[in-house]
Amino acid sequence: MRTRQSVCLKKASYRSIEEALFAIQRSGWDLRVYRCDRCRLIHLTSRTKGKRIPRPKD
Ligand SMILES: [Zn+2]
Repeated sequence: MRTRQSVCLKKASYRSIEEALFAIQRSGWDLRVYRCDRCRLIHLTSRTKGKRIPRPKD
């Protein structure tokens, strides 16, 4: 999976995971953090891969 540099620059970046997690808490969104292999900073992503949300039965 490649990260485009243009995307990288546009994204909010954090110097530490703690800082990123704090930003997520403040936003109240369900986001994930990952370390970018381009800029070596922490980015946020809204991907919730592997996390299934069960559908309610009718
Ligand atoms: Zn980056």
